[in-house]
Amino acid sequence: MDDGRNDRLRRVVWAVATLLGLAVVLVLWVPGQRAYHCFADWTSGQMAEAEIVSVEAATGIELRFEDGELCLAPFGVSSIDEFAAGDRIEAVRRADRPGLCETRATIEAARSLLVSIAAGVVCILLAIGLMARVIARSLTQVPQLTTRFELPEETEGTAACPRCTKPMDEGYLPLRAAIHWRRLGAPVGAAGAFGGLRGTMSLRKPPRVHAFRCEPCEVVMFRYGA
Ligand SMILES: [Zn+2]
Repeated sequence: MDDGRNDRLRRVVWAVATLLGLAVVLVLWVPGQRAYHCFADWTSGQMAEAEIVSVEAATGIELRFEDGELCLAPFGVSSIDEFAAGDRIEAVRRADRPGLCETRATIEAARSLLVSIAAGVVCILLAIGLMARVIARSLTQVPQLTTRFELPEETEGTAACPRCTKPMDEGYLPLRAAIHWRRLGAPVGAAGAFGGLRGTMSLRKPPRVHAFRCEPCEVVMFRYGA
């Protein structure tokens, strides 16, 4: 195998993974930042009960606190349907922002959104990194074989093709799904990921079984086992 080509491919894999990671962060940056600001701006404020004066879809909710102060809570991440004029709800105001406030529901929704976005970003980045690592390793690392196809001494390590009798190429089969065997005349039955030939399916140690191939005859002989 061409080492230079695989090295280049490995770099491409990591470059694509980095771009994907950046794209995920970029896509979630705006909603994340909005949720963060909503949450961070108002957590330092004073929570108090207020009466809803009016609900305007275009601007937000007008509230009146018990001391008579009127303020506007612009629609953030909460839904307009949750509020109706005359309801008493909890809201937060800050001394340095006269006329503005935020409802408790919106602040709590912003906090949940922020946690979900942060957890989502971490999970997606981890998954991308793990996938890139697996692909990059498969491009450069020569695996250890999980079986050994020993040949009789007189063959001097060269297997003869059972069809054309010419020498076969030595190699291995990187297996993903299990390989099943049935005698002629037997039904297939269950031929899923499990219950195949011993050592042809393993999540812990991916099977790399020693094999010989005759390319013109399209014949492969391999030895399975753990
Ligand atoms: Zn052959």
